[in-house]
Amino acid sequence: MTSRDLRTAAPHDPPRRCAFIPPWLAELVDGPQQVERDEALRRARAQRAARTTAVPTAGAVAGGPAWTVHDAGSGTSLPGTPARRAGEPETGDVAVDEAADGITATLAMFADVLGRDSHDDAGAPVSLTVHYGSSYNNAFWDGTQLVFGDGDGRVFERFTKPVDVLAHEFAHAVVEHTADLTYSGQSGALNESVADAFASCLKQRLLGQQAADGDWLIGEGIFTPAVRARALRDMAAPGTAYDDPEVGTDPQVGHMDDYVDTTADNGGVHLNSGIPNKAFQLAAVAIGGTAVEGAGRIWYAALTGADVPPDADFAAFAAATVAAAGSHADAVQEAWARVGVEPGRRGGERAVDPQPRGRLRVERSGGFAGRTESAEVDLDTDDPDLGDLVQQAVLSSPTHDAPPKPDMFVYTFTVDGGAPVRVPEHLLTGSQAELARRILGSGTTEV
Ligand SMILES: [Zn+2]
Repeated sequence: MTSRDLRTAAPHDPPRRCAFIPPWLAELVDGPQQVERDEALRRARAQRAARTTAVPTAGAVAGGPAWTVHDAGSGTSLPGTPARRAGEPETGDVAVDEAADGITATLAMFADVLGRDSHDDAGAPVSLTVHYGSSYNNAFWDGTQLVFGDGDGRVFERFTKPVDVLAHEFAHAVVEHTADLTYSGQSGALNESVADAFASCLKQRLLGQQAADGDWLIGEGIFTPAVRARALRDMAAPGTAYDDPEVGTDPQVGHMDDYVDTTADNGGVHLNSGIPNKAFQLAAVAIGGTAVEGAGRIWYAALTGADVPPDADFAAFAAATVAAAGSHADAVQEAWARVGVEPGRRGGERAVDPQPRGRLRVERSGGFAGRTESAEVDLDTDDPDLGDLVQQAVLSSPTHDAPPKPDMFVYTFTVDGGAPVRVPEHLLTGSQAELARRILGSGTTEV
């Protein structure tokens, strides 16, 4: 494989569905085996759903897409028994009625403010299921419908209780039908953040609040009173939503200086989403009025426009929001600047990094013969044109914790004063392969 081929042969992640509870909390509360079983169940269901047209028909009411809330009766068969349809009265089952109120309000916000007709913008009926599983601690969008557990009552309450949980999951469906942001790394954190942004918009709209009055909490009331928590996330102050002896401390970050490079949680999608979350909150408050009519409309325009590819990073998404902001462009630009993101063009780098200077060392070690080759260049004098490539390949690169495969090479890129970036050969990005080829000589990136 040549370096050119490598550019298009990035490791392909299987599609992942959003679960409202981040993996570290699910594992803590439910144990790793239950989490794995859940994952397997969701994958199987998504595959089944993809083979059939799963959304049941239901009577539409005037002015909005049809919806049906089903009752799974503590089982795991989906969608379960229809319990309430659009236009029907309350049932007296709290979870059913909360889901009904939540989907009605969510569909209305997307239609009235953003001009969107259901998640697909073609009026698709919405299927929801409550009472899913036994003491089930999660809510998710499985690619065809929304699903809510009752919680175990010890750590978590029922997942229909905070209405923003439902709006968050519905927004994932909207993302899937628009920018389809890949659920990994920065694009995955953007997917999470957009879901939180519209969730908070809905909560504030139901409370009749302006952006400045909002509490910006996500999942307020999802924890039982026994847990020391205000909510699951805080968009205005990421990392402060909970601090509890059992469930731990909210690990979210709210600035690029604290960006978490990790392979866990699909590349920290629930951790680093705090950064664009705070940018949204700052923009919404600066613009004024309601969150959804101000920053919400701008974020939605970015999401549905042509400038946000599935693998968009924070800088690319930020640029799309600035471009969509009209007279509020300065406020939006300033909001991103305050979380350390400099809006850049599509595929843009982590713009907070300075232009690379000094010496670059590239080393290739390992391999069947166990040899090490290395070479160095001076970025200031030898080849000043390398700057952009080094920026992309080294300074903006996530680090990989993945162990190299047997006998595979490991490449190490080090810029003066920076931490070495070690990448097993099978995980080299196109720009890293190109840089290795240019520094170590041709032929070194053959796989
Ligand atoms: Zn999510």
